[in-house]
Amino acid sequence: MRLLNQNFMARILLHTCCGICAGHCVSLLQSQGHEVVLFYSNANIAPASEFERRLKAVDTLCAHFGVPVIVDTPNHREWLERVARGFEREPERGARCPRCFRYSLERAARTARERDFDFFTTTLSVSPHKPSKTIFEIGKSVDAERFLEVDFKKQDGFKKTNTISRSLDLYRQSYCGCEFSLRDALAQRRTATPKTAEMLSDRPEDIALAGSLLRAGGLVAIPTETVYGLAANAFDENAVRSIFSAKGRPFIDPLIVHVHSLEQAETLADTAHPAVEKLAKAFWPGPLTLVLPKKATVPDIVTAGEPTVAVRMPVHPVARKILRAAEVPLAAPSANPFGYVSPTTAQHVLQSLGERLDYIVDGGACDCGIESTIVLVGETVRILRLGIITREDLEKALGTEFSVEIGKGLLEKKAEEAEMQTAQIAPGMLKKHYSPRAKVELWENAIPNLEDATGKTALVFQKRPGSLPALSENATAFWLSEDGDQATVARSVFALLRRLDDAGFSDIRIERSPNDGIGAAVNDRLSRAAAR
Ligand code: AMP
Ligand code: MG
Repeated sequence: MRLLNQNFMARILLHTCCGICAGHCVSLLQSQGHEVVLFYSNANIAPASEFERRLKAVDTLCAHFGVPVIVDTPNHREWLERVARGFEREPERGARCPRCFRYSLERAARTARERDFDFFTTTLSVSPHKPSKTIFEIGKSVDAERFLEVDFKKQDGFKKTNTISRSLDLYRQSYCGCEFSLRDALAQRRTATPKTAEMLSDRPEDIALAGSLLRAGGLVAIPTETVYGLAANAFDENAVRSIFSAKGRPFIDPLIVHVHSLEQAETLADTAHPAVEKLAKAFWPGPLTLVLPKKATVPDIVTAGEPTVAVRMPVHPVARKILRAAEVPLAAPSANPFGYVSPTTAQHVLQSLGERLDYIVDGGACDCGIESTIVLVGETVRILRLGIITREDLEKALGTEFSVEIGKGLLEKKAEEAEMQTAQIAPGMLKKHYSPRAKVELWENAIPNLEDATGKTALVFQKRPGSLPALSENATAFWLSEDGDQATVARSVFALLRRLDDAGFSDIRIERSPNDGIGAAVNDRLSRAAAR
């Protein structure tokens, strides 16, 4: 290291991570008579909007002090590869951080050399949260000739820099910069004060952030073609546990694991059964879940201790991009409190779970509107839950080689067992599902008599009625489709139940669907919503 001497006016390249930290550092170096150029190079910062926000603060500061800024082109992907890979689980201030300091200081050193600066240094040492000694060692090892060792936190540096930033009203960030530091900051804040989830879009930087947070053990709600899912890294037991606690879901109810490819499915499950190939070829990616023998890679918490695991490959383009970005399979049940109506828009998720998670990726309204068809692949192909892919669709794809039957879902079975074994679990609790707060009753053939209606009542038709019946003041008519098309009915049924709840209807009378094809799946949801 070359020493600064009193009479030597040096050109110094000053790396900074934000506007806040730079104030005192620029002021100090200027007061010593040096020429300062800021270097804003922070490939660690995610999402990209955060990089821009901090840059704006740096610009304001530069204008105030009359110093130029060199803005580096951030390559967050490269940063993830070179700095974070293998260190994702490190806490803030752990082993990942010195690697990140090195990455930034190497870029600063290179720029200082190329542009013939006398020295380079960094504002990182102004923060009491950052270890000056480590930073100096890294700086010197990167370029011993040019690195200038200044401990900016000395003589109340941090206090001074805060005073400057307040007087300029600079943007003040709430985390160090990368998604992992954001994850830790969010976890800390969540235990302190509950806050509402932030919406992400399908822009590449938002998808990358969602992917990184998920890989790092975070909880993110994601769109799929069926309903919105509450996703976590399926290989991370703690992350999966946080799904259960956010939903209030009993641990006896196993989760579906989402994958982007057949190869990824093979990391979780035995896919050797000949029916799997046929089903995957016909319906994947799409709304079909296969229950298969599980591999040891899958934590027991995901499968409720079952030897099988439920696997699905979604077709929703945003879900697929998130799966690719996360690089791990995602366990994701519907993103609603256990037992309540499933969410089919990002707003639904925000409304009923917003305070229990950090991010929701908005991918628009779900196309199917009800959950996937679940089949257990064994000696026969047994349907455990009806969905948009119907029994007839399955039979057609399988040909005569395998028979398709309708079976009971796992929870129903457990409810029955519990009933037999003097209810550890209230059986009604497991039969009742997809339920709004309002009372739900089903009708078919004849329009029900609403004389016994209590409070605000909704009369719901499958299709627009030819003429509306005379209704009392308390009652309003709704319909799930114009023409009775069951795909449309499935797409709108959960959204309507939520709308009626929100509008304060206390009594909902819904017309049943025709009991075949998709209609049978809709009826399954309706009868559970109506169960007491
Ligand atoms: P959800 O994620 O809320 O759509 O629900 C997933 C459902 O998949 C569970 O309630 C189970 O009924 C079913 N499921 C998941 N894993 C298994 C499994 N290993 N065996 C049987 N059913 C399963
Ligand atoms: Mg669910």
